[in-house]
Amino acid sequence: MAQIIAVANQKGGVGKTTTTVNLGASLAYVGKKVLLIDMDAQGNATSGLGVRKGEVDRDIYDVLINEVPLEDVILPSSRDNLSMVPATIQLAGAEVELTSLMARETRLKSAVETVKDQYDYILIDCPPSLGHLTINAFTASDSVLIPVQCEYYALEGLSQLLNTVRLVQKHFNKDLKVEGVLLTMLDARTNLGFEVVNEVKKYFREKVYQTIIPRNIRLSEAPSYGLSIIDYDLKSKGAEVYQALAEEVLNNG
Ligand code: ADP
Ligand code: MG
Repeated sequence: MAQIIAVANQKGGVGKTTTTVNLGASLAYVGKKVLLIDMDAQGNATSGLGVRKGEVDRDIYDVLINEVPLEDVILPSSRDNLSMVPATIQLAGAEVELTSLMARETRLKSAVETVKDQYDYILIDCPPSLGHLTINAFTASDSVLIPVQCEYYALEGLSQLLNTVRLVQKHFNKDLKVEGVLLTMLDARTNLGFEVVNEVKKYFREKVYQTIIPRNIRLSEAPSYGLSIIDYDLKSKGAEVYQALAEEVLNNG
């Protein structure tokens, strides 16, 4: 039975997609069967793993809105053991369309349940908002992994995010947990980054992963080749740290 993890933070550009893709690839690399679900209309996880959006005819939108079976939209990615449910720009309409549908919060959960026994991990890349799509992701998940960028205002917005977690616990998924807080894009040359690390650790304590993701140019290059860091440059610092994160996630579970 898969462990289902939503990667979420309503701020854009904090490393959600980079983390979903490379954690997924690192888990696949050690032999786990992984499904990545792209829940962001930008489809960055989709293209970042080599799936051409022009060649996708049905995506997560069709699962959520048109009740197409999840199984029918799963595609292989550029990494063995890692399959993908793609998103394309049509998902942008889902946020509004879900509002008027029955069981709008539990649609992803129902879909995921049909494939749960085929994977070890299901990772959900959330959009930069706390709307219906993120609520669907939280309702479908066992836990939430929160990437936090090592920048000014790192903690800003996190209380809102935690409120959404509580709301989902109360109404749709009482067992939802915070999987962990991941510090991302640390610039080791500045004091600021380390100050943020300390601040976030003070607030989240043992929930913060030991692994901290530094800024690494190879991590930002990999998606343009449609490859995870494991396949783009296995010897890079980026590959090393995401493998270390995967190890922590394996030990948590
Ligand atoms: P989000 O999904 O939260 O919007 P992304 O994962 O897309 O964030 O990251 C935002 C940008 O920063 C992307 O261009 C990505 O390639 C880059 N990036 C993410 N993590 C790193 C990192 N550790 N080092 C360098 N660049 C990174
Ligand atoms: Mg993203």
